[in-house]
Parts: sequence; structure tokens; C-alpha cells
Amino acid sequence: MSHSQFAALERGTQPAFFYLDLNDTVRRAALLTAVVRKKIPTVESLKREYARALAQLNDAPLNTARQPRIVTGGPILRLARARALVDKSVLSSSYRTESRAMAMRHVQHGLLFLSLQHPPLRKLCDLMITDILCWPSLESRGGSVRGLLGIVWLDPSDGLTSLDIAESLIHEMVHLNLDLADMTFGLFTRAPGSHFESHSAVLGRRRPYYQAFHSACVAVGIIYFRLLVGMHGEIDWLRSSLQRCTCELLTPGSLHGIRLECNSRRPGVFPGTPARSDPRPQGPCLWVPIPVCLTGCL
Ligand SMILES: [Zn+2]
Repeated sequence: MSHSQFAALERGTQPAFFYLDLNDTVRRAALLTAVVRKKIPTVESLKREYARALAQLNDAPLNTARQPRIVTGGPILRLARARALVDKSVLSSSYRTESRAMAMRHVQHGLLFLSLQHPPLRKLCDLMITDILCWPSLESRGGSVRGLLGIVWLDPSDGLTSLDIAESLIHEMVHLNLDLADMTFGLFTRAPGSHFESHSAVLGRRRPYYQAFHSACVAVGIIYFRLLVGMHGEIDWLRSSLQRCTCELLTPGSLHGIRLECNSRRPGVFPGTPARSDPRPQGPCLWVPIPVCLTGCL
């Protein structure tokens, strides 16, 4: 992100990154819904029908209401455990009723904080996330998996603030949004011989390129949010880690790829837009090695 992009931060505006752009995301969600449900959703029905499409794809009992459902057990937990979203480091019997109620309140406050700070980001979370599962862990703070799109797992322990929870929700929303983009327009190649690794912008260790790409987008989302809420002093490590990650993603091997204009100043640019003339990277754009799948994943 350039300084001018940072300077343009305002609570009502939308950044020009496809995974942080509500209108772009609505179009991708509508496309997936239309293909899976075999009918084009209206503005009113989009979240409900999108959630039904995800439920159909995942074979999961997802919430279809406008806003995420917050749960601390039940079928969502069983599914999350069965599909390796949630670990088993804490027994159900040791998660007390009061702790569950507290966790749910924490998440409600986090959602409220997000809607007050940046309504479009809240709307993105409302669209991408069907269920928020609160569950403690000794090993992780939460996550999401591609096999359970719509569900976000959080461990909202006492030490976390509403700001921390809002940031975690943005983090997972970006993952879910990238998965949606990959399923509709195609982000990553699965072609033999195209695999390479880069340092993750978030974890700081080498990861397969598609996970490193996820981490770069998540880092941008986190930096964007931290700047938005005035945490200017808490982005330095992430910014340099993001720089290393994107430098490694921009390897010569990627010159056969496509231009991914997620860093463009133009909002509304879908991933996978082919370069018009010079196939080499220009300006601040990220590259990916070779476009694949398009709608083949569906
Ligand atoms: Zn992540």
C-alpha cells in the first residue's frame, strides 16, 4: 500500500483491493450462488442464498441469516472437529457455561466495534461469515478452512479486546474471500511444476506460494485495519514481512503468469484480469504464476 492509499483511509470508503471491496465480493458471491443454486440472487436474498450454496458445497448446517451466528457447540462444533478446523486440546467438559457466555459477548462486541469503525468491512464479514464458533484451544487462536467455507473459529479469551476480535474477523474474512475468488475466477495454478515457496507475511516462515499469497492479502487487511483505528506504531514488522513475501512471490518464474490487479487503485478489478500489453509486472501489482481453474472448481 502506498502512502497516498493510506492517506485516503476513511471509515466509509472501500479500499481498492478486491478482497476488501464489498461490491466486488458481492459479484463473486452472486456468481457462485447462481452456479450452485441455479438461480440468480437478488440484493435481498444474496446472503441467504449464498449461505445455502456454501451449505450445499460443504454439506454443513450453516446459518443463513444476514449476520453471523455465534455458537459455542452443537453441530457446527462437531463438524469443525471432524474437518480439522478445531483441535481437541480442550475438553468440552472444561469449557464452562459462564466462559461460553463471556466468549459470545466478546464476539458480539467485536462485531459491534467493527460496524462502528468501518461499516463496509462489517458488511464484508456479514456476507462471508455464516457462523462464528467460539472454542478454546491450547494450540491456536482460531482459523478457517476451505472445506468449511462460512465458518470462522475464534478463541476469544479474556485477554482479547474488541479490536483484537474485529481484526481476527477481518483476517478470516480475507481467507474466505480469497477462497471465493479462487472458486469463481481462479487465483492459483495446480499445474505440475509450477509449485514454489515464499515466506508467509503473517507467520514469517516459508509456505507454499498459494498460502503465502493468502498471507500477503491478510497482512494488507490487517495493516489497513490497524491504520484505520490509529495503530500506526503496530504495523512495522508486518509491513516489512509483507514486503519480503511479495518480493518472493514476484519471482522470475511468475513472469509467465497473469497480472493480478488486486493492488490497483481502480476498484472493481477482478482477479485474473490479463495484462493488456507488456506481460511483466508494472507498478504495484502482484503476480501469480499461471491462472487456472476459472470456474472449473465448481
Ligand atoms: Zn490466516
